[in-house]
Amino acid sequence: MPEKIPQHTHCPICGKAIPVSESFCSDECKQKYQQMLKKRKMLVYVMYATIIFIIVVFTLSYYIG
Ligand SMILES: [Zn+2]
Repeated sequence: MPEKIPQHTHCPICGKAIPVSESFCSDECKQKYQQMLKKRKMLVYVMYATIIFIIVVFTLSYYIG
């Protein structure tokens, strides 16, 4: 039943089929991926900052009100 498909994976950026031994189809995609990771990390920091900000605002309003 299983069809014979040569072992392959997909480039996480553009979705091109690439050999399993490779992680990206090109250096361009590799760089894009690393930039994406950096952006995602930034987003996590921003999220934490927002949560802390909300907690601080709630705490302050609790003591003021
Ligand atoms: Zn790619």
